[in-house]
Amino acid sequence: MRSQKVLIVDDEPVNIVILEAAVSSLAHVISTSNSLEALQLIRHHKPDLLILDINMPKCSGFDICEAVKADINLREIPVLFVTSFTDVKNEHKALALGAIDFISKPIDIELCRMRVKNHLLIQKQKSQLTVYSERIFEEKEQLNITLNAIADGVIATDADGLVTFINPVAQRLTGFNEFEACGRLVTDIMELRDASTNATMINPVLHTMEVKRPVAMALNVKLVSKQGNECRVEDTASPIIDAYGNVKGAVIVFQDLSESVAMAVQMTHLTNHDHLTGLPNRVLLHDRVEQSINQTDKLHQSVALLLIDIDNFKYLNDALGHKVGDSIILSVSERLKHVCGESVTLARVGGDEFACLLTDTGAGASADSVAMSCLQSAREPIYIDGRQHQLSLSIGISLYPQDATNAEELMRHSDTAMYRAKATGKNKFCFFSNDLQLAVRKRVEMEVKLRKALDDNSLTLFFQPKYDLNLNKIVGAESLVRLVDEDGSIIAPDEFIPLSEETGLIHRLGKQVLEKSCQFIAQCADANKPLKIAVNVSAQQIANPTFAKEVEQVITASGIDPRLLELEVTESALMADFEQTRNMLLALSSLGISLALDDFGTGYSSLSYLRQFPLNVLKIDRSFVKDMDDEPQALDIVTAIARLAKCLDMVLVAEGLETELQFHLLRQLGCDYGQGFYMCKPIPDVEFTDRFIKQTSLSI
Ligand code: C2E
Ligand code: MG
Ligand code: MG
Repeated sequence: MRSQKVLIVDDEPVNIVILEAAVSSLAHVISTSNSLEALQLIRHHKPDLLILDINMPKCSGFDICEAVKADINLREIPVLFVTSFTDVKNEHKALALGAIDFISKPIDIELCRMRVKNHLLIQKQKSQLTVYSERIFEEKEQLNITLNAIADGVIATDADGLVTFINPVAQRLTGFNEFEACGRLVTDIMELRDASTNATMINPVLHTMEVKRPVAMALNVKLVSKQGNECRVEDTASPIIDAYGNVKGAVIVFQDLSESVAMAVQMTHLTNHDHLTGLPNRVLLHDRVEQSINQTDKLHQSVALLLIDIDNFKYLNDALGHKVGDSIILSVSERLKHVCGESVTLARVGGDEFACLLTDTGAGASADSVAMSCLQSAREPIYIDGRQHQLSLSIGISLYPQDATNAEELMRHSDTAMYRAKATGKNKFCFFSNDLQLAVRKRVEMEVKLRKALDDNSLTLFFQPKYDLNLNKIVGAESLVRLVDEDGSIIAPDEFIPLSEETGLIHRLGKQVLEKSCQFIAQCADANKPLKIAVNVSAQQIANPTFAKEVEQVITASGIDPRLLELEVTESALMADFEQTRNMLLALSSLGISLALDDFGTGYSSLSYLRQFPLNVLKIDRSFVKDMDDEPQALDIVTAIARLAKCLDMVLVAEGLETELQFHLLRQLGCDYGQGFYMCKPIPDVEFTDRFIKQTSLSI
């Protein structure tokens, strides 16, 4: 710390010497005997203490004192006068002018030193005090700025709970401004209530002062503002305790939780709801199913779960794009919402799958009427971007406790029932039943049989001859796979082809059928009766990128002329990725084999679409052939298809010819080839060889 300064003004040099002797050990001394230059020195040195003689020529000590006290920068400098004992009048005047003490003449050095020492000490403390109070002021300012700027609400009170400070956030949340709030009881401006029950809560400010430690507010609290606005808050209150342990007041800091509460609510909503439709998702549905099952057990009622799937959605979605797909989902969900009403849980449980949970039901009865309304609602055409789309639904219904013992089973069984609805023609609903359960079991058994047959390479092929309708001569055959059961009975492909597609076994199956078919081609060729054999391939095989390579290998291995092999694909196989399918068909075509479009008329192919695939043969689906002799409409369709084939330069083959009339009609329409029971049923290879290969003629 800098040393203090004492300035002495006395016209008697002797006195200066004595005074200097007295104080020089206490401070740095500046002195002058010329009272006229005193003020200048004072201004320059700003001494901590001034010792003035009173009587001086030209400018008295009083004059100097007066000037010092008049100067705002100097007036704090304490002044000591040097007086004689008898000079009472002057002492009065000196005190009136602001002097603080006197040094009596004749000067007692020790006494003078002690006086000066005391005053310097006081002066030192005074300047320290100034520093401290400046510092406190600064800190207070900083604190004020901080409290006004922070995002939390802050309210301070005195020991009686009367508000002494309230920051802007707290003003906003409570609805009271600073002037309204200060001086009022904190409980008057902070109305705290339980967010759920609305019960009044104790303000933690009062509590914290009572227990003399910080306390946190109970959870789930809302603050009701002066204007009646509510917000969720979380806070802590702390007592202000002085050095002696007395409570001087309290500070409460609180946060507006509304946003985080809203966020939490939203998060819960997101995890439990589907973002596209806003409907509950599978997770929430599962909870609800479980809840209603528990409830049902108590009330002896029953629960129905409807699983609703949009028919052919995958095709629509792939062909028209995901945006249109989403619009379809949305509009179906709106219709289902409308049908199901508020009291029913409607959920979106998969891409194109919805579920509807019906509680309190006379179960079966009301479930089927809801299902019926759902089907009906979907039948109304949907317009998206000005285009009309026709939809249908397949619905599976399962009941608790009739069909299932728990939530998982209920959901699984409605799924099974839905698949049954799909498998039996779509656009309908099916109840889960014991039969269905039986069917599920049979399916499992069938899968076991199929796997075994594939492992043993024991699948059998039947062949159905294909005829030239004009020449009445066999020109080829279609190979049709059969599974031979343990008891020797023959299982038709409809019973295991869809299953093999679902399980992915179709690739192994397809390969074995192709190998056996090529062996058969080789066998016929060896017998000098080269016949074109058509082999059915499924959509999944076409979608397999290595399929063309595989076909090439089989052709090479069997050594056949590729022109004797035809592959039949269905329209659904062409519905997948356009480019990829086209490339695959081009690759197959380049092997020299021919390609036929099977079951034509049952799918969605358009003319422009067909043109872009390298197809050689069109096979009219047997459903049209079947009806053509008595249904004019079917005949019209066949006629149109016949023209189409001509126009696309494709060979036309009719399937399912059963009558002579059909045979003649088709021939008249210009249909090149035909196959059907009228000519010959599919027969085992041995029989085929006996009847057609060992004979010289290939006519009927
Ligand atoms: P598809 O390719 O349309 O085969 C023609 C089906 O019509 C055969 O049934 C055949 O027996 C039957 N059919 C032939 N003529 C007549 C007739 O005059 N009247 C009637 N009502 N039906 C006739 P199948 O053999 O039961 O085959 C059913 C379907 O299974 C086939 O339909 C084909 O899509 C599929 N399939 C058969 N073998 C294979 C195979 O090796 N691979 C694949 N992916 N699918 C196969
Ligand atoms: Mg076929
Ligand atoms: Mg067919």
